[in-house]
Amino acid sequence: MNLVLMGLPGAGKGTQAERIVEKYKIPHISTGDMFRAAMKDETELGLKAKSFMDKGELVPDEVTIGIVQERLSKEDCQKGFLLDGFPRTVAQAEALEDILHGLNKKIDYCINIQVDLDSLMERLTGRRICKSCGATYHLVFNPPSKPGVCDRCGGELYQRADDNAETVQNRLNVNIKQTKPLLDFYNAKGYLRNIDGEQAINKVFADIDHLLGILHA
Ligand SMILES: [Zn+2]
Repeated sequence: MNLVLMGLPGAGKGTQAERIVEKYKIPHISTGDMFRAAMKDETELGLKAKSFMDKGELVPDEVTIGIVQERLSKEDCQKGFLLDGFPRTVAQAEALEDILHGLNKKIDYCINIQVDLDSLMERLTGRRICKSCGATYHLVFNPPSKPGVCDRCGGELYQRADDNAETVQNRLNVNIKQTKPLLDFYNAKGYLRNIDGEQAINKVFADIDHLLGILHA
C-alpha cells in the first residue's frame, strides 16, 4: 500500500503514522528522516542537499525529488510506504507521480486527517509549562489542579511564544494555503480520503484501518 499522509499541525498525524506503519509493516518516510539519512550516507544528493542547508538556503526541488526517488527505490518500499511531509507542492506531487510511474507503482490513498480550526486552535494553544521545573500541562487535556500553578512544585505556569493564539493562527493559515492545492490535486486523481480527526485517537485509527483493510484484502 502506497500512502501519502496529510493533516494540519495538531491533527494527530504523527500518532496515526506510527500506528499505520506498526500495523501494516511499511516504512514511515518523512522528509526530515530522508534528508538526514542521505546526508549521513553521504550520497551525491545528500551532499548536495547539505550544501544548500549549510548556507541556510532551501533545498531545490530537483534535489529533494531525487532523494525521494532513491528512497522509494529501496527494497523496504516493495510492499508499500507511508509518505509524510512530502509532497508539499503540486509540482512535487506531479514529480512523485512520475517517480512512481517509473517504479511501476501508484499512490493508493492520500489520507487527510481533518480537524476543524477551532479544535486545532484549542489543541495547539493550550500548552502551559512550569517556569521552575519544566513540567508541561494542557488546559484541556491535562490541566493543573489549580489554574496557573504547577501540581508538582507549585511553580508558575507560562505559555511559550510559539503557542500563542496569533502565532498558531498564522502557522495554520500558512499550512492551509499550502495544502489546499495538494488536496485538490489528489482529489482530482481520486486518491483523497478524508478521515474525521475530531474523534478519539483510537476511533481515528479504526477509520484509517478500515480504509486500509479494504486495500489489503
Ligand atoms: Zn513545576
